[in-house]
Amino acid sequence: MAGRLDSIRYFQVITPVDWNTPYTYRADKRLEVRPGSIVRVQLGRQRVKGIVLAEVKTPPSGLDIKPLQLLSDEVPPLPESMVEMIKTAANYYFVSPGSLFRAASPPGLLKKHGYRYRMKTKRVPLFLTEEELEVVSYIGEKGKSERALRQAFRGKQVGRMLKRLVKLEILVKEVEDEASGIQSIKRRALALVRPPDSEELKKLQKKAPKQAAVLEKMVAAKSEPFRLCAELAQETGCSYETFAALEKKGWVRLFHDFRSLVRGDRHFLEGHKLTLEQAAFLSDFNKHPKAIHLLYGVTGSGKTECYLRAADEVMEKGKSVLYMVPEIGLTPAAISRLKVRFGNDIAILHSGLSRGERLSEWLRILKSRVRIVVGTRSAVFAPLSNLGLIVVDEENDHSYKQSSHPRYNAVHAALFRAKIEGTGVILGSATPTIESYAHGIAGKYVMSHLTTRVEQKVMPEMRLIDMKAEFKRNKGKKAILSEALVEEIKRTLAAGEQVILFLNRRGYAPFLLCRKCGFVVQCPQCSVTLTVHSGYEGKPLRCHYCGIEQELPHVCPSCGDAFIQMMGFGTQKVEQHLNRLFPGKEIFRADRDTMSGKKSFQKLHDRMLAGEIDILVGTQMIARGHHFPGVSLVGVLDADASLKFPDFRSAERTFSLILQAAGRAGRGETPGRVLIQTYLPENKIFDFLKSGNFADFAKEELKFREKAGYPPFAHLISLEIKGENEDEVKETAEKLAKSLHGAAEKGVAVLGPFKAGIYRVKGRYRRVLLLRGESRPAVRRAFTGGALPILRNITRNDPVQITPDVDPLFID
Ligand SMILES: [Zn+2]
Ligand SMILES: [Zn+2]
Repeated sequence: MAGRLDSIRYFQVITPVDWNTPYTYRADKRLEVRPGSIVRVQLGRQRVKGIVLAEVKTPPSGLDIKPLQLLSDEVPPLPESMVEMIKTAANYYFVSPGSLFRAASPPGLLKKHGYRYRMKTKRVPLFLTEEELEVVSYIGEKGKSERALRQAFRGKQVGRMLKRLVKLEILVKEVEDEASGIQSIKRRALALVRPPDSEELKKLQKKAPKQAAVLEKMVAAKSEPFRLCAELAQETGCSYETFAALEKKGWVRLFHDFRSLVRGDRHFLEGHKLTLEQAAFLSDFNKHPKAIHLLYGVTGSGKTECYLRAADEVMEKGKSVLYMVPEIGLTPAAISRLKVRFGNDIAILHSGLSRGERLSEWLRILKSRVRIVVGTRSAVFAPLSNLGLIVVDEENDHSYKQSSHPRYNAVHAALFRAKIEGTGVILGSATPTIESYAHGIAGKYVMSHLTTRVEQKVMPEMRLIDMKAEFKRNKGKKAILSEALVEEIKRTLAAGEQVILFLNRRGYAPFLLCRKCGFVVQCPQCSVTLTVHSGYEGKPLRCHYCGIEQELPHVCPSCGDAFIQMMGFGTQKVEQHLNRLFPGKEIFRADRDTMSGKKSFQKLHDRMLAGEIDILVGTQMIARGHHFPGVSLVGVLDADASLKFPDFRSAERTFSLILQAAGRAGRGETPGRVLIQTYLPENKIFDFLKSGNFADFAKEELKFREKAGYPPFAHLISLEIKGENEDEVKETAEKLAKSLHGAAEKGVAVLGPFKAGIYRVKGRYRRVLLLRGESRPAVRRAFTGGALPILRNITRNDPVQITPDVDPLFID
């Protein structure tokens, strides 16, 4: 009896069909199942794939426990540390581990996917059977999908033959990439890392003439950052092995895909000399390789070089690196440098990839074929084993926080992961979050500060424009561009330099107002004004929250008067204004309306570098990352917009945004100038901005946070209550508040429920509750006692939904 029971183990499994509840399954003891194993289970009538979360000692009683089946060896189990980290994060954010798994894994993982086979070697051994030879020749140079092979060799046990050919290392089995497929071979490219001297070249010409021929071609094409392998092979008659041999010797780098290499941006290929501060950081990093490092420094001070050097050293020791960026498209230069530095050892994960591409990158990581992963938010869950370092670039960026369920913050998740894996972290930023900075001061993080720009480029000079004075001079009319800014633009253009104008508001005009009765046109589904757009197909009035479109009314919908006017200005109106002011100049607008294409950033980047654009006007998306040496003037058109946002982080956000935008100026030969237009010139934040002193700003901000009781001096958990029926939402919110009041101990405040800043979105009403307290455990206990019992009873189909947000970024 006992023997039989002992031979069975029980496991909790989560599946894509139901991510909220782990179900228990049994497995024979001999099966090598562990947390992270990918398994096949019966769920209701379906057979689905799932992931083992944990082993359980005793199964739930009274249930018929079904067996699980281990998936064949094509997909190895997830690293156990990753499962551990997902459990930790799920616990911290009060969400199910399954919902995090779903956010973390590529969409295709647990669905069916095809495989394809390609040749691994050109030398086919003689001992193959005739049928096997037929299969090999059918697969040919281009490779074939399993589907095609099964069709062509129907009834001939093709599966068995393929298995043997893979085992003999004649074929390689790969997950089919729906989008790019075989194309990727055509996209292979070669970049010169170190040109040979004449002596070396002579030797090579004797020993390996084809390699020498390729190298000579590369040296001759010095102005091109890379060349396509297919072209080189045609010109020299060499094979793929030639490129691989050259890479092994360190002359060149081989790339799977040339598309993300930036043309005309060669500076990344050359070696960089470290500044004293960069060297000091690296020595700190080497002394404390397992600590959390906060690296802050102005734009252009060379943070990227620090990340790369640290990554290099970690990889030198045989460890892997996770390198996180807010958005891939915004950092083409950094990605190119990483690709050049690490070649095919790199995998890139972001939402711009097709489903197939994402899955195949993910599997390359899982199978330990790469040593560095670059990616956006969800890459924090990349299944890398043997992790040695996590880099988080622009750690203050909001895109690290997922704004929908499950609301996790990838920066915090990275810290959880580092703790579990015992690795170091580098958090980098020009303007760290106030919380990170406080940890730095307290000595919890090792803080390094880069104060000088590399190559002695000076920080741009900042000038404040008082728009109130401008308003008086204009006889009560609000100007888009102040006189001073127009003068500066003229001067800059006359000198043949480029201008960036920054305005974080897209569209033509942000609202329509009736001058007679004061009526403002609002979205019928959301409590926001409709923005006027021009020059599109479709209707000109648009809601930025739900996307609804309406015709422009000719008379006021409320009083019928014809005196209805467009108020304020967005990027479109600025563009129009500029075209009028500077005829003949090339003006380009970059916002979400113009930059939706996959390659739009690359195009913008290329055109800016080529000097084809005179004035670039855009939203937040142009404030980050780019390196445009021709830009010497940056204008911030409305510095007050984010400052007036009713949230305790508004000063932090404004400081960061303006400093980042300012960082676009003067990255070339000419020193930069920054003009900031504001109606609140007396605000202290501008003094700190002018001196560029983040530390002083942060200290002032910390004083305010301490007095007002905000993070890092308090812990916050917010709850959003949302539904279509206003009364039901109100009722649920009040019930929840009551329960929380009952559970909150002394020192924990329950604030609200209050109406959210934008009370209605897509027809759903929103109320917010906030838990706040100095002690994190106490705040969490209040949540566990007061909110969890109610949350657990809500199903996905209930009319009122409650979403918890631990450490919310916005409270509205
Ligand atoms: Zn009216
Ligand atoms: Zn709307």
